[in-house]
Amino acid sequence: MRCCIRGAVTVDANTREDILLNTRNLLKEIINQNSLKIEDIVSVLFTATRDLDAAYPAVAARELGIVSASLMCAQEMYVRDSLEKCIRVQVEAETVKSQADVRFVYLKDAVKLRPDIAGKGKNVAVAIDGPAGSGKSTVAKELAAELGFIYVDTGAMYRSIGYKCLENGIDPNNAERAAELAGNVNMEICYIDGRQRIFADAVDITDDIRTQEVADAASAVAKIPEVRRILVKLQREIAKNNNVIMDGRDIGSNVLPDAQVKVYLDADVAERAKRRCGELAQKGIEADFYKVLDEIMARDKQDRERTVNPLVIAEDATIIDTTNMKIVQVKQEIAELIRQALL
Ligand code: C5P
Repeated sequence: MRCCIRGAVTVDANTREDILLNTRNLLKEIINQNSLKIEDIVSVLFTATRDLDAAYPAVAARELGIVSASLMCAQEMYVRDSLEKCIRVQVEAETVKSQADVRFVYLKDAVKLRPDIAGKGKNVAVAIDGPAGSGKSTVAKELAAELGFIYVDTGAMYRSIGYKCLENGIDPNNAERAAELAGNVNMEICYIDGRQRIFADAVDITDDIRTQEVADAASAVAKIPEVRRILVKLQREIAKNNNVIMDGRDIGSNVLPDAQVKVYLDADVAERAKRRCGELAQKGIEADFYKVLDEIMARDKQDRERTVNPLVIAEDATIIDTTNMKIVQVKQEIAELIRQALL
């Protein structure tokens, strides 16, 4: 049977050595992962972004002994904001596999081009945990958009239950009533213009759950085992069907223990309070730093000390202290962990 196998790799520098080395690695992976023999290969078509002009990738194919196949290189059309220094390949080969069974191969930053298959058939899960204000949601949201993953803000789920308790005059510490409400509320998460919106009983409450009062109610309902059971089930279902970046307090340790990447983001508590005041200022709300600091410390304590699935650092998580880091640096570090995990 004749099949077409796609692949891509990025190159660090526009040098002959780097272009040939990475192209060889890409071809070797395609050959190995698809159990091909050199003589099975009928043709190889390479394209390269126009910032690569130090060598023809076809030279690497010949170096590997692919000499009787027809080889062709072409410069790619320029697409704004697309991956830089990238070589793409299409290998046509005689295989015993059917087209549906061949393995496409995306290496290095080119993983971003096809995150759906980079996890080798399994959905990819990135767990980001940490205390309030450590930068989880900003980083997770932006990375998910860049990688084409779904961003799941689990804090928003606990906030929704807290919000519904307050709306219905239920004490969020009343385990029985809060659990009953969690079982009855119809929570829907959808993505509009790439942004997560959360609906409770068909009402969009995305913006209403961002108050301090709701945060405190969320932290209270989050202590209730039955509430957690209901929300964790929903979180696992989303991760089963999608590539996700999920942030929260217990994602790496409890919700997705098999996540390919686990990160624990931390930051000095004063820095976290400063960030929170900045966010509020952007919304035109003037906040007292010390009051915000107290609220964050109280919530941290509650989240760390509760008996069910408290905020902990998963054993295999990478800890990143964001106190003196810019968002872009944190994102780069996590993107690198994802790349390493998927190779
Ligand atoms: O992250 P965010 O501040 O929106 O979370 C609100 C509250 O929800 C947290 O303080 C915590 O008590 C709870 N939560 C949790 N487990 C998660 C996510 C959030 O207990 N996975």
